[in-house]
Amino acid sequence: MDVRPSQRMRDLGIVQHGAGILAEPARAFELPAERYEAERIVDELFAAMERIGQVHPFAKGMGLAAPQVGIARAAVVHPPGDAPAIILLNPRITDHSEETDEQYEGCLSFFDVRGLVPRPLKITVETTALDGKTVATVYEHGLARLIHHEIDHLDGLLYTDRMKTGVKPIPVEEYRQTGLIYSCQASAQVDRLPRYKVREARGLSAVERGAHQ
Ligand SMILES: [Zn+2]
Repeated sequence: MDVRPSQRMRDLGIVQHGAGILAEPARAFELPAERYEAERIVDELFAAMERIGQVHPFAKGMGLAAPQVGIARAAVVHPPGDAPAIILLNPRITDHSEETDEQYEGCLSFFDVRGLVPRPLKITVETTALDGKTVATVYEHGLARLIHHEIDHLDGLLYTDRMKTGVKPIPVEEYRQTGLIYSCQASAQVDRLPRYKVREARGLSAVERGAHQ
């Protein structure tokens, strides 16, 4: 039986489009006072990403924001290559390039479609470390996109809120037809990695292996 991608994500406990929590700004952590709570939530996010990675291989990386598993305030992103996962506590974008590009994004909370989203090529992100210090990091290109997508979740925004007026998401089946070249390149890369380590070649938030699905 053909299970819709969105149903698969729902079965894995990913909160789906229409749920109020996806449209609400997340509350910030008080750090270091809430450090253990922050660590617990990050652990939950890692566990959820591992569950997702086991049933759905991602070639181009993924991120997960806490509202998507029914809690708020933090996000985790797996960058491309072998870099460690990025944990975002209380992230806010403090600067961005004027230059943008447009790429297709997917979202685990409405996974049957993909949408063409303009985003800045470079962003500066401030986060709060567990000890309460502020840390600023600059991200570029695909990783900037991935992180921007997850920070948007914490602000109650979905990628559809970022799409140009009049542009609509397309069905995933149609996207796969347009994405074959990228999918093949990305598959070669992902095959060398543990299945749960989702990877990205182009910086989409959640794009599967396309041609091989
Ligand atoms: Zn998303």
